[in-house]
Amino acid sequence: MGFLLAAALAAAAAVNGRLSGRIALDSASNQPPAQAPVSVRATLRLASLINLALATAAAVSFGFLVASEFSAGIRVIIGGVAFMGAATAGEWFLARQTFEAYNRLRPGQLTYGDYKVRLMATAMSVALPLGVSAILVGSLIDLVSGGAWNLDRLANLAVFLFAIALWSLQWSAIRLVLLPGKPAEFPMSDWELDAKTLALNMNTRLNDLLILRTGKSRIAGAFALGGGRIAITDDLLAVLSHDEFLAVMAHELRHFTQRKRTVRVAASIALIAGVIGAIAAWLVAAGSIAPFLAIGIATAVAALSSVPLVRIRRKNEDDADAAAVETIGADQLMSAIAKTYAVNGRLNESGSGTIHRGLHDRLLNIATLGNLGEDSVVRAIRAGSAVARTTSQVSFSR
Ligand SMILES: [Zn+2]
Repeated sequence: MGFLLAAALAAAAAVNGRLSGRIALDSASNQPPAQAPVSVRATLRLASLINLALATAAAVSFGFLVASEFSAGIRVIIGGVAFMGAATAGEWFLARQTFEAYNRLRPGQLTYGDYKVRLMATAMSVALPLGVSAILVGSLIDLVSGGAWNLDRLANLAVFLFAIALWSLQWSAIRLVLLPGKPAEFPMSDWELDAKTLALNMNTRLNDLLILRTGKSRIAGAFALGGGRIAITDDLLAVLSHDEFLAVMAHELRHFTQRKRTVRVAASIALIAGVIGAIAAWLVAAGSIAPFLAIGIATAVAALSSVPLVRIRRKNEDDADAAAVETIGADQLMSAIAKTYAVNGRLNESGSGTIHRGLHDRLLNIATLGNLGEDSVVRAIRAGSAVARTTSQVSFSR
């Protein structure tokens, strides 16, 4: 049985590899250029879907068919680990091919090394919540099934606590991995001082401002980190005026004050998910439901619990934009945002499915907040396009 499964997995992997190989061929052929990005995007999405299906197949086959001699809990744990392993390994092996496709979508934006890091972080952001939920439920199944406190059960408790730690750490961990570039000391002390003064005016504290040296990759972004720290990439800093820089800082500083509320919501979600997981585990231990049903429940809970978190993060983004409009001004924030999208090669992209609204949508929202007309949106996008045209020559030298 195990051999059959291994053969099926190998065949599926080969198909997947061929498909991704086709991505590169397709986009290099004589397709009309206007359509190429759409097909490349669709094929990239297809590749990650297939990868997800493969990972699920690996989880089921290892957890329930190969490991049939283990207890139900351990099989669920093995399934969770196999899922995370297969999902990330799949992306890793295909990175070279998907990079070629990505490079057609956004030429010269990322070096292969930076692309690989971001790809792995994205894969982990999908695989980690699902895999860790399975590990959590698996260890719970064996914990609630009773028995003497021997070494096995203690190990089980350790796995359970480890899974909880992973579960609570995962978001910040992924965020840290996703940070582009190498953090370094901020080069302009006068701007840093202005940002710190702004923080005090907004009733918060900026403990440290970092610059992210992105090297050959071209990435614009600013990030509110833990411990009152903000990081901004050199590519973004190089195109911002002083006031646009402060508008970006105001947006990020607002995230500091939002954090407490987000943590509160995340904690209550974790509590609900934990209770559901415990009930599922107890039902498995009592023999009322099959282990694979418990894995299904854990997966559904993990997927569902991310919905309110995504909604909160969207609301936080709008709220942070409002704070920047209030403290610095709508015009400055709008041109800073348009420049960010431009450097990232996303000036013409709609933002469906992301935390941030699409550029045009977001600018309109800010214009309304600042009582500005629609011409302000046009102005901001023009500032962005100017940067997009020159940015390949911009190098950070301040
Ligand atoms: Zn933000």
